[in-house]
Amino acid sequence: MDGPSDPAARDARTALWPATPEIDDAVARGGILALEVEIGLSCGGACEYCRPELAGPTPERLSHRDLERVLAEARALGARQVSFVEGDWLGYPHLAELLAEVDRLQLGLEVRLGSRALEHELAERLVASRARIVVDVHGVRDETHDRVARHPGSAGRARRTIEELRRRDPGHSSIAVRARICRANRDEIEPLWRWVRSLGLEPWFENAPPGRDDAPPELDDALAGLDARALEGLFRRLAEVDRAEFGHEWDPQPPWPGLRDLRHRYACAVSVSGVVRPAGLLPLPMGDLREHGLDHVLRESEVMENLRAHATSLKGPCRDCEKLPTCAGSRAVAFALTGDYLASDPTCWRNADRASEIARLPLALSEHLPQKAPMRFVDALDSVGDRVGECSVTIRDDLPMAGANVVDDVAYLEMIAQSMAALEVFAHLGTGDGGFGGFLVGAEDLEVFAPARLGDRLRIRVRKDVRIGKYGIVSGTVLRDESVLARGNIKIWRESGVPEP
Ligand code: SF4
Repeated sequence: MDGPSDPAARDARTALWPATPEIDDAVARGGILALEVEIGLSCGGACEYCRPELAGPTPERLSHRDLERVLAEARALGARQVSFVEGDWLGYPHLAELLAEVDRLQLGLEVRLGSRALEHELAERLVASRARIVVDVHGVRDETHDRVARHPGSAGRARRTIEELRRRDPGHSSIAVRARICRANRDEIEPLWRWVRSLGLEPWFENAPPGRDDAPPELDDALAGLDARALEGLFRRLAEVDRAEFGHEWDPQPPWPGLRDLRHRYACAVSVSGVVRPAGLLPLPMGDLREHGLDHVLRESEVMENLRAHATSLKGPCRDCEKLPTCAGSRAVAFALTGDYLASDPTCWRNADRASEIARLPLALSEHLPQKAPMRFVDALDSVGDRVGECSVTIRDDLPMAGANVVDDVAYLEMIAQSMAALEVFAHLGTGDGGFGGFLVGAEDLEVFAPARLGDRLRIRVRKDVRIGKYGIVSGTVLRDESVLARGNIKIWRESGVPEP
């Protein structure tokens, strides 16, 4: 086995973009090749890349021991690289021990610096350990960068960091420059690309999802992403620059010029408090590492299962694209714009004329459920997560079980059953497979805590808990605001088997 100081082996582990056979192998064994971890709290900045959890109240972070356990679990699952992502990882109190643990586990390391400065000793250590260092530069003009980063003065720091790293690493094979493509910098992307290439650095430019929602109104428009046609033009110009001036040939596809994003098949992200997500910018909780190991979370996740099989699970016009085996657009952008992590990427130019074929949440259910008014007890499917979904309904006087101003207990079971049906219908929308065949075979353990009345707006949360062959058990909770009115379980039967919980 290679040692931690073997540069070639280290480079191979740090290489971010694994080949298709490696990805297929990781998928087949239910493993991963890369792990993103948040180890730092908010740095106090307002970067658009910052995770929602870091932008809010200070979360309770995983202990250092837990973090070491997670790295070891990732290694056992086949991960060869770990990324320290946004947040103030430089301020992590056990950083030296963690770097030593990364070495001990023979993991390649990627660190995302944002626009911060790197202190000399750490820069030397990272370069010596052949870490891939990602520095944000969002424009050729400092004021453009500062505007996109929302960090006055950060452009100068980013450039000084790049200079320092190039001095220490004359081959500079391990420095990447990341830029978020948005309206504010669209005219500077091409010259920025040339600058990065001319320095021999790796461009990692991305069409990122809409960022934090705390941007001041005057920046909202400037930080918005480009529409599909504008992105197409930009990607094609960059491809031509690369071909004509730098000898790189590539065929444009979203979300990154010159690169393929297949991380949803082989990577996952762990938040500072231990929540596992498919990726940092895809805020879809799959499990909690305080409760379960990483292997358990990934094995039990329907989201992970679907993302690993994106060529068959994606919905809408992407299914007709010949690039589908090696492209899923941006899962984070699709989720941000539609609420559906399996939706076709609406910002892909190939989908630009087929927007109406991409379903978005909330979805009005009047056209989609077999139950019609007045027997339909849910109005809309509002959100979909990992084995969970949430519907809503406003209690009207034409609902047959809403007599005498109070909803009959049986109506709650009907709401839960129809919410589950809505989840299944949505999972098949845009797949062309004709929907699911299944029905309710029983209900049990209904508890009613408070009555619902005419005019109440109720939310119904359902969760696929158990599968036994073609039978499944779904738990449901009916809420008014945050008060639980009722909960119960239903049993369903599905012709093709119940999706693995
Ligand atoms: S249509 Fe979908 S699969 Fe095809 S290039 Fe666009 S995002 Fe990728």
